[in-house]
Amino acid sequence: MPRYTMTIGGESVAADATFGVVDPALGEVRAEAPDCGAEQLDAAFDAAAHAYRSWRRDEGGRRKALHAAGDLLMGRANELAPVLTREQGKPLADAAFEIIGSGYWLKHFADLPIPYDVIRDDDAAHVEVVRRPMGVVAAITPWNFPLMLACWKVAPALLAGNTMVLKPSPYTPLTTLVFGEMMREVLPPGVLNVVSGRDPLGARMTAHHVPRKISFTGSVATGKRVAEAAASDLKRVTLELGGNDPAIVLDDADPAEIAPKLFGSAFQNNGQLCSAIKRVYAPEHLYDDLVEALAAIARTAKVGNGLEEGVQYGPLNNRPQWERVVELVADAVGRGARVAAGGRAIDGPGYFHEPTVLAGVDDGFRIVDEEQFGPVLPVVRYTSLDDVVERANASHFGLCGSVWGADADRAAEVAGELECGTAWINTHFAVHPDQPFGGHKWSGVGSENGRWGVEAFTEVQVRHRAKG
Ligand code: NAD
Repeated sequence: MPRYTMTIGGESVAADATFGVVDPALGEVRAEAPDCGAEQLDAAFDAAAHAYRSWRRDEGGRRKALHAAGDLLMGRANELAPVLTREQGKPLADAAFEIIGSGYWLKHFADLPIPYDVIRDDDAAHVEVVRRPMGVVAAITPWNFPLMLACWKVAPALLAGNTMVLKPSPYTPLTTLVFGEMMREVLPPGVLNVVSGRDPLGARMTAHHVPRKISFTGSVATGKRVAEAAASDLKRVTLELGGNDPAIVLDDADPAEIAPKLFGSAFQNNGQLCSAIKRVYAPEHLYDDLVEALAAIARTAKVGNGLEEGVQYGPLNNRPQWERVVELVADAVGRGARVAAGGRAIDGPGYFHEPTVLAGVDDGFRIVDEEQFGPVLPVVRYTSLDDVVERANASHFGLCGSVWGADADRAAEVAGELECGTAWINTHFAVHPDQPFGGHKWSGVGSENGRWGVEAFTEVQVRHRAKG
């Protein structure tokens, strides 16, 4: 069984204990990952603290290193993709896309300016506002896009001059561990340390005295615990949490035209995407046509082991997640939902589920109100536009949303009413390294990406020089 090691202070480090990593297509343990002990975690934070000073001072070196890191990752995408598929479940092509995208992110940040302003320059004073790195930061990531979401943190944090200890989810530690190993070739020792382990490793990181900041992506429940732990010594936090994104279809939309786009945005990564469309609101006169158009796509989707050619959707990542999807579909059907396509878990050792479109659902159904994080799309009817905006906003979540219609200006006006961090018009989940990404309400605190993502890993310093 393959064994993986951590990266601490530029060295390959095994742990005293290991834990099994399940291949979700097989439902069985296929690899062992190190279960980081308390002393090793101390060593990782010490290594990051030791590396900080010279890293902070060498902006040119940081930019070069980030470019080299991105090139390395992109060049080895095909080698790394099967590791990601075997632990996460996504098809090989999607895995390669995630890895290449992660490399692209690193390279893009390598060239981003670090925000800097001159706010006063007169006879009496020259005043600049600069951004200083925070020092050692901790990053904690979930299992749906392990590498991409890690690089959303690594790229801006390292560019700004911080050093890092990164911990992936225990469901998907392997790609990140290999990433750490690869980064030893291009980063000075201690700049990026990668540890893995079962929880409470995450809680130990947030309670640790060294990091000045916790950058966390995961569920709302864990995010609240991270915020509580960080509060005790006022660590900074960025929290990227759950979502339950609505898509509102306006009365001038063409169901045949938008169905493939809605479907793609709802079922990407099997719906295991914080900003997947999780509920569609459709007007009465388009309802049946839209449900049928979505169902027709779902019926032809190819589900299977992500290592097999032509597979579009792999398994869900883990058993609790799979059980949750099965439970929420059963709950909806028990309350009278109509299964327009799919509806069933697929027999087999792995955690497979048919892509599912549900009609006859309404607000108040768990599948509509809760974050389901799986391959199920409920389509809800509406009659009044004002009313549907309120219904879309009646959620603790506020990550993203979208509005779809032939009149894009009108759709944009409706989008402006949504309480969420990103409101798309005639698309959903279009992200870019320059575009801030973050949630309103319980979907998060702060933003990642672009200038905002760099600022999130810095503190403001005013440099006021007296003249004369
Ligand atoms: P999770 O909250 O269970 O785990 C996330 C990470 O936190 C893991 O690495 C886990 O080991 C660690 N962790 C667990 N307990 C901890 C603690 N007490 N202190 C610190 N760390 C701890 O989330 P998950 O199930 O891995 O991921 C799915 C969730 O992530 C969904 O809610 C999804 O919406 C969200 N997500 C959000 C975004 C975003 O950008 N907003 C992106 C992807 C996923």
